[in-house]
Amino acid sequence: MLALQGDVREHRDALGLVGADTLEVRRPAEVAAVDALVVPGGESTTIDRLTRIFGVREPILKRMAAGMPVFGSCAGMIMLADQVLDGHRDQQSLGGLDITVRRNAFGRQVDSFECDLDVTGLASDPAYGMVQDQPFRAVFIRAPWVERVGPRVEVLATVAYQGQDHVVAVRQGNLLATSFHPEVSGDYRVHGLFVDMVAAHVGSIGSRPDHHHEG
Ligand code: GLN
Repeated sequence: MLALQGDVREHRDALGLVGADTLEVRRPAEVAAVDALVVPGGESTTIDRLTRIFGVREPILKRMAAGMPVFGSCAGMIMLADQVLDGHRDQQSLGGLDITVRRNAFGRQVDSFECDLDVTGLASDPAYGMVQDQPFRAVFIRAPWVERVGPRVEVLATVAYQGQDHVVAVRQGNLLATSFHPEVSGDYRVHGLFVDMVAAHVGSIGSRPDHHHEG
């Protein structure tokens, strides 16, 4: 868990429930110690600023370039986007996902809302809370939406909002992002999907004799 700001506790609890060991990451040594990273919801401008102040921005970028899986929700999605619209003047993202997001996109009309979504590729293990063909209860809080997706980005979910469909969950390789907060609805299939991605990644690098660790 990147634990500089935001709803760290809720994600940690969710990750624990789907069988992951978690560590709060605030320093470069902690970036080096984890198999994967979750960037929580919160305030992307603050998270961005703190990654630089705490000296973890460059180490995270290095790990990402080597394939480390990262899941970002809400502000975390903004942090993973290559382009951010309606950001602060000096706001930077980590990037990695070939998407353009608009900050506070729904927030111009309403701050927060919930709805049922069909999300592609959710983990189906009953231990993750719900069976696969049930909709996912998505909670949006001053959420971004995705305005552009690159060719290698898989769209996992869209939401109909004021007569238009907006992309709200994406995956590109080892990067996963949701506009909504999957840590608060008592359904841990998104965390389950991410943990499965991490296990597959760790398995693949573990099987290469020259690469026990990409770090
Ligand atoms: N609006 C916030 C931002 O721009 C994100 C809100 C959230 O993470 N719940 O970072």
